[in-house]
Amino acid sequence: MMDLSKNQIIRMFNVYKAYGKTSALRDISLEIYAGEIVFITGASGAGKSTLLKLFYKGELASQGQILVDGMNLARMGARKLPELRRRIGVIFQDFKLIAGRTVFDNVALPLEAAGEKPKIIEKKVMSVLRTAGIEDKAKVYPPSLSGGEQQRVAVARAVVGSPSLILADEPTASLDPHSAEQVIQLLETFHGRGATLVIATHNRRMISRLKGREIRLENGSIQERLHGSDREMEEA
Ligand code: ADP
Repeated sequence: MMDLSKNQIIRMFNVYKAYGKTSALRDISLEIYAGEIVFITGASGAGKSTLLKLFYKGELASQGQILVDGMNLARMGARKLPELRRRIGVIFQDFKLIAGRTVFDNVALPLEAAGEKPKIIEKKVMSVLRTAGIEDKAKVYPPSLSGGEQQRVAVARAVVGSPSLILADEPTASLDPHSAEQVIQLLETFHGRGATLVIATHNRRMISRLKGREIRLENGSIQERLHGSDREMEEA
C-alpha cells in the first residue's frame, strides 16, 4: 500500500470527547492533508471548538487516536507539548491578545517562547505585521485598536513562527464585513505560503471565497462531507 502519511497533517481515528456527562464528539474519524483548507461547520454546540482544541491538545480526547504532523497526541509526553504548539498557530473569535503588551510584543510571543534571537524576532515580527497591514501599530496596545485590527494582530501572532497548521475558531464572527474580508484575505495569503488551514465558521462568504472542503458536525458527529469526496472515492 502506498504510504500517504507524509501528506496527512491530521489523522483522527474513532475519537470521542466527553465533558463529564456531556458528549461533545462521537466517533470522529477524519484526515486533513497538508496544504488543504478545511472548514468545520455546524450549529452552535455541535462540537467545532472542541474538535479544534483536540488538535493542539487544549483538551484531551476521551477515546481514540489523534496524529498531528506525525505526533501521536495521546502517547506524546508533556515535554513534547511546546514542539506541538510551535507547529500550530491558533486564532480565536475574541482575539485573546494580551492587553498589557504592545502589538509587537504580542506577535513576538511565540518566537520568544521558541528561544529566537532578538534580531530574528524583530525581523520576523515586522515582516508579518507588514503583510497584515498593521506595521504602523507595532508600538500601540491592543485595546486602542479596532476589532478588525486586533484580529489581524492575532493572525500575525499565529503565523509568525511559520507553523504548518493554522487553526481558526470563528475568526470573523465578531467582525464587521469589511474587517472580516481583510482577515479572510490574510488567511488566504498565509495559505498561499504553505500553511494548512482548519477553520470553524458560519461565514458562507469565507467558505465560498477560500474554496475549502467542508466537514459538517451535528451533535458531535460528522454529518457529511460536502466537498473532497472524490479523494475518498479514489482511496476506496
Ligand atoms: P461549538 O464550537 O460547535 O459551538 P463546542 O465544542 O463548544 O461546540 O461544544 C460542544 C458541546 O460540548 C456542547 O454541548 C457544549 O456545551 C459542551 N462543552 C464545550 N466545552 C465544555 C466544557 N469546557 N465543559 C463542559 N461542556 C462543554
